[in-house]
Amino acid sequence: MPLPIIASPDYDAPLPLGHRFPMGKFRALADVLQARDLVPEGFARPEPADEGLLCLAHERAYVRRVCETALTPLEERRIGLPVTADVAKRARAAVGGTLLAARLALQQGLACNTAGGSHHAAHAGGAGFCVFNDVAVASLELLAKREVRRVLIIDLDVHQGDGTALILAHEPRAYTFSMHCQANFPSIKPPSDRDIGLARGMGDAQYLEVLEGALPEVFAAARPDLIFYNAGVDVHEADQLGQLCLSDAGLAAREAMVLDFAMAQGVPLASVLGGGYGPDAHAVALRHAILPQLAAKRV
Ligand SMILES: [Zn+2]
Repeated sequence: MPLPIIASPDYDAPLPLGHRFPMGKFRALADVLQARDLVPEGFARPEPADEGLLCLAHERAYVRRVCETALTPLEERRIGLPVTADVAKRARAAVGGTLLAARLALQQGLACNTAGGSHHAAHAGGAGFCVFNDVAVASLELLAKREVRRVLIIDLDVHQGDGTALILAHEPRAYTFSMHCQANFPSIKPPSDRDIGLARGMGDAQYLEVLEGALPEVFAAARPDLIFYNAGVDVHEADQLGQLCLSDAGLAAREAMVLDFAMAQGVPLASVLGGGYGPDAHAVALRHAILPQLAAKRV
């Protein structure tokens, strides 16, 4: 069975010309994965998350305002995207994609969603390009349905996973681990179960050493039967927003380390895309393609 990779045409929502969010990377990533023959049977297609599902992690009134494209200007400004019908559809599809990735990972060991990782979205509002917190919704759904007993969230996006930390703060069955650049957004970092704030400019060797030391500790504390991995590539040296200095080789070593760790523990892993920023969508997509490329060799 090939590695399940989840994608949807809905992941690519039109934005005003020149908008700083790199929406083009979703289409570019799907193209790269197809060109490399990583989806011989096609992408797995998600169902858009419905209101009931979204309300596991979000306030009903907020979910309604998103779905009815009725957010206030302040709410939209915090998100940094115009929340149009297409952007709302995209957010619902991304949540569905992360839930599907989790269920396919539980069946097959590994699965990759090519969207999601919207870790700044909190209970009653979005932020930082994040509308709905896909990993929090999927975690709470799987826990509620008793499809898993405990989950571990490994969030290696360069930004701290503040929304996930807040939503899951009082859920003892979900362990949140965020390793990020301490000087970067968000300025207020509500505590995850484990946070590691790295110094600006850190490169491959130090980064990998810290991660290698942390993984066994968080795993022992979390005792998960599913891992969500936010594989944001905004740790890359060429990233527009990152402030860390991982090379392509360092990024590949990180992805291999996380995959091999999960497999050595015998725990399924579902990855979500996370951040990655720059004017060249294809260049960003190539960084995001490293993880599914390495995962495909391990199924
Ligand atoms: Zn990020």
